[in-house]
Amino acid sequence: MHTTQSEMLFQQAQALIPGGVNSPVRAFRSVGGTPRFIARGEGAYIWDADGNRYIDYVLSWGPLTLGHAHPAVVRALQDAVTRGTSYGAPTELETQLAQLVVDTVPSIEMIRFVNSGTEATMSALRLARAYTGREKIVKFAGCYHGHADLLLVQAGSGVATLGLPDSPGVPAATAANTLTAPYNDLDAVKQLFEHNPDQIAGVIVEPIAANMGFVLPQDGYLQGLQAMCRANGAVFILDEVMTGFRVAPGGAQQRWNLDPDLTCLGKVIGGGLPVGAYAGKRAIMQTVAPAGPMYQAGTLSGNPLAMTAGLVTISELIQPGVFDTIEQQTTRLAQGLAAAADAAEIPLQVGHAGSMFGFYFLKTPGAAISNYADAKQHADTARYGRFFHAMLEQGVYFAPSQFEAAFLSSAHGAAELAATLAAAERVLRAL
Ligand SMILES: *Cc1c(COP(=O)(O)O)cnc(C)c1O
Repeated sequence: MHTTQSEMLFQQAQALIPGGVNSPVRAFRSVGGTPRFIARGEGAYIWDADGNRYIDYVLSWGPLTLGHAHPAVVRALQDAVTRGTSYGAPTELETQLAQLVVDTVPSIEMIRFVNSGTEATMSALRLARAYTGREKIVKFAGCYHGHADLLLVQAGSGVATLGLPDSPGVPAATAANTLTAPYNDLDAVKQLFEHNPDQIAGVIVEPIAANMGFVLPQDGYLQGLQAMCRANGAVFILDEVMTGFRVAPGGAQQRWNLDPDLTCLGKVIGGGLPVGAYAGKRAIMQTVAPAGPMYQAGTLSGNPLAMTAGLVTISELIQPGVFDTIEQQTTRLAQGLAAAADAAEIPLQVGHAGSMFGFYFLKTPGAAISNYADAKQHADTARYGRFFHAMLEQGVYFAPSQFEAAFLSSAHGAAELAATLAAAERVLRAL
C-alpha cells in the first residue's frame, strides 16, 4: 500500500497545524505511523489521498449512521445550500428537528441546539448549576464529555489523581469542583453524595463508557445513579453524544428505560455536520435564556445546513427496519471478531450495543474490563497497534487508538462484513 501522498500532506500540515491535525487522536500517535489523509467517502468506504480504499468503522467518530455521502443527505444539503448557509435568525428547520428529537428520545421535552458535543455538555452542566444553585459536579474516570475545562478531569487519559486537571491550562479551582468516581461503582457515588451534602448540582455519565474503549454499564448501574440523583436533588445528565440514535433510535435511555433530567446530544444529530444539543425536562430547560436567566448562545447554532443533515439522517434512520438491520450487522461483526480471536487464541473482550461496538486486546487472559483502571491495566495497546496497522493494510479502517469505539452504518452490508471478518481472521492468526 502506497502512502506517499498522505506522508507529504502530513508534513505540510505539521508546519501549520499543531501536530498536523485539528483533533489529537487523528494523528495516529498511539498506534504510530502516518495518518491517512482522506480524499472522499461513499457509503461504507473512504479513500485516502493515495487512492487506497478502506471499509470505514470510524464514520467520523460516530455521526455517519447512514454512511458517507448518503444520497438523501447530499440531495437535501445541495437543495438547502442554494437558499443560503446561515441567517442568525430562527428557521422552521430548527423546530422540525426539535420535534423529531422530542418524538424519538423518550425523556426530552425541550431542546437547545449548539455546535458540538463539547458545547452541549458544558452548557448542560452550567444549566444544572443554575437550576440547583449548587457548584459541584460528578463525572466518572475515563468518561469523556468533550474538552471544556470543568469536564477535562480524568477524561480518558492523563493525570488520574482526584481533582487534578488532565491538561495544563485547566485551572485547579475549576477542576476542584469536579468530583470523580470509578465507572460501574455505585458505592463510590454514594460516598460523594454523603461527603458533599446539598452541594452536587449534577451527575454526568456516558451510558456506555465508549471513550476508554467500550465498557457496558453493569445491570442496575445507570438506574442506581438516576435514583441517587433524585434522592439528593441533583440533576441526572445522560451524555448521549455518542450513544444517541446509536444504542437504540431513542438512545441508551430508551434501551435501558432511563428518565434523565438532561440529555446531551451530538454526532448523529448533525448527520455529519457540526451540531450538538442539550435537552430535557421542560422545567429545567426553561431556565435557559431568553426563557430564563442562564445565558448560552451561538452565532451558528441551529445552522440550516446542519439542521437539514440531522433531519434527513434521523428521519431515514427511524424508517422501519433500518436501525434493526444495522444492529443485526453490528452483532454479527462483533460475534465474528470474537470467534476469530478465539480461533487464534488471542484474548479479546468484545462488546456491542445497537450500531456500536468495541474490543480490547487483553494482556491477561480472562481479565474483565469494567472501568478505566481496568482498561489501563489490562488493555494491550501494543497489540492493538499491530492489529490496527495490519487491518489498515487489508483495507479496513478502525480507530487509531485502543480506547475508542467502532461504528456501523446502513451502508455496511454483507460484502463489507465478510471482507472485514476475512481480514481479521488472517490478521489475528498472524499477530
Ligand atoms: C464526542 C463526544 C463528546 C464531544 O463532542 P464534540 O463534538 O467532539 O465536542 C462528548 N461526549 C461524548 C460521550 C462524546 O463521545
